[in-house]
Amino acid sequence: MSERAAARSLQADVAVIGAGAAGLFAALCAAREGASVALVSATPLAQTASYWAQGGLAAALAADDSPELHLRDTERAGRGIVRRSAAEILVREAPDRVHHLQALGVRFDADRFGRLALGLEGGHSVRRIVHAGGSATGRRVVRQLSALAASDERITVLEGTRARALWRMEDHCRGLLLEDGRAVGARAVVLATGGAAALWSRTTNPPGSQGIGLLLAHAAGAELADLELVQFHPTAVIGVPHREGFLITEAIRGEGATLHDASGQRFVDELAPRDEVARAIQRLLQQTGAEAVGLDMRMIDPALFPNVVAALRSAGLDPTRELVPVAPAAHYMMGGIVTDLDGRSTVPGLYAVGESSCTGLHGANRLASNSLSECFVFARRAVAAALANELPARPPTTAELERLRDQPALPAAGADTRAALWRHAGIVRSGDGLALLLASEHPLVRLIASCALARSESRGAHQRSDHPHSDPVFEHMHAVVAADESLAWQRWQ
Ligand SMILES: Cc1cc2nc3c(=O)[nH]c(=O)nc-3n(C[C@H](O)[C@H](O)[C@H](O)COP(=O)(O)OP(=O)(O)OC[C@H]3O[C@@H](n4cnc5c(N)ncnc54)[C@H](O)[C@@H]3O)c2cc1C
Repeated sequence: MSERAAARSLQADVAVIGAGAAGLFAALCAAREGASVALVSATPLAQTASYWAQGGLAAALAADDSPELHLRDTERAGRGIVRRSAAEILVREAPDRVHHLQALGVRFDADRFGRLALGLEGGHSVRRIVHAGGSATGRRVVRQLSALAASDERITVLEGTRARALWRMEDHCRGLLLEDGRAVGARAVVLATGGAAALWSRTTNPPGSQGIGLLLAHAAGAELADLELVQFHPTAVIGVPHREGFLITEAIRGEGATLHDASGQRFVDELAPRDEVARAIQRLLQQTGAEAVGLDMRMIDPALFPNVVAALRSAGLDPTRELVPVAPAAHYMMGGIVTDLDGRSTVPGLYAVGESSCTGLHGANRLASNSLSECFVFARRAVAAALANELPARPPTTAELERLRDQPALPAAGADTRAALWRHAGIVRSGDGLALLLASEHPLVRLIASCALARSESRGAHQRSDHPHSDPVFEHMHAVVAADESLAWQRWQ
């Protein structure tokens, strides 16, 4: 590190890595507790998955809803491996976080009586999706939270630079090294680096969602889990130039949009959980050799989803007149950095929240719109736990910095790697294909393949052609990868 960079190194009570919904909310919660925060964001805000989120946040707010019903839907979608303790927290605390966001100035859509307008998505038995600007929820929430973070004098925003390594001392995570050579010393580090679905060549995610946070945590000794569990969203646009992978929110199906084969027939319950709908589409595509099925949203009032309609029209497709070609794409990583119910990873002082974390909450198939709720519920809990950490922040010594700088550079997945993951660890996988990925140069691809090989069954988003049925042996079991890359099965309750 140059003398100049050393001089610019800083200390904070909490270092938050990532400025999507989870990172921004964690930073604001910490600052509002009086803590100093260093908030690191690799990309501009418009390139976070949070900014792209369309549908909204799931919360049991309706008169005909309850946390128990939300829990039941979450467990049903999660196919027998939802960690109940985590799901209970989510469904209990999500309504308070919605009110919390409103208090922070987020304006959710309301009905004509001024009550929150609630949408319906696949797998939910009642309307419970809180949204903003129709399908511009992520954009609205992230804009408001980032404006608050930027104007909070306790938050130092470090934009346009990436975390390169976590600094671990005496078994504690004490800070991080940035790619530009600066170091951040902190009482606790909160990873909020998002998911890894952009490792697959066909994806709904922004290019940065390649699981770098998982590799940072793993290199620091943290356990990862459930890496084989990746959700494929059924309705990503395909074959429309400049809109490849653009997601058409499930909320549009919630309002009545339907899916059709080439002869115009419907072939699936459009509001079944995502794994079911994605599989039905994939099966049809395989049988017919077609590239896409048609989403008919001509009956939908375009004013309800203005940004989706505008994005399609700008690509030359008018969804009020013609069907939209869609097919499944990698969308959400259920696995991630193992955490307890307060965001603690297996390394003291290191916390993980949002899509980078794995509490077990989503099981083998995330219920739609549970992830934004998860960002807010668990970010707040993690910050409370992190601030209880008494260890004072201090800058790394020169020798510690030298060691950090010696760590290998973080890998980026090239086109071949991403295509291989789509081919061999896509919607339907086989042992033979997965075995090929074990030789990948990308460390996370190898770990994904070994978890997917070890789960020799089909469950939720993980479908094995050579093991087409669920095996009761794997019920409630999670594949946990230790720092030395060994894999063990753990039962989470
Ligand atoms: C198109 C789309 C629509 C979706 N719609 C919904 C929805 O309606 N409802 C719902 O619940 N979920 C939805 N999801 C999922 C949900 O948006 C994500 O799970 C959630 O937003 C993840 O938030 P996050 O804060 O964990 O990560 P992100 O929003 O992905 O943010 C990650 C942050 O980490 C930063 N980062 C990454 N690596 C580094 C590094 N090394 N150093 C520094 N910073 C780093 C990135 O720059 C970014 O700021 C959608 C996802 C997509 C892609």
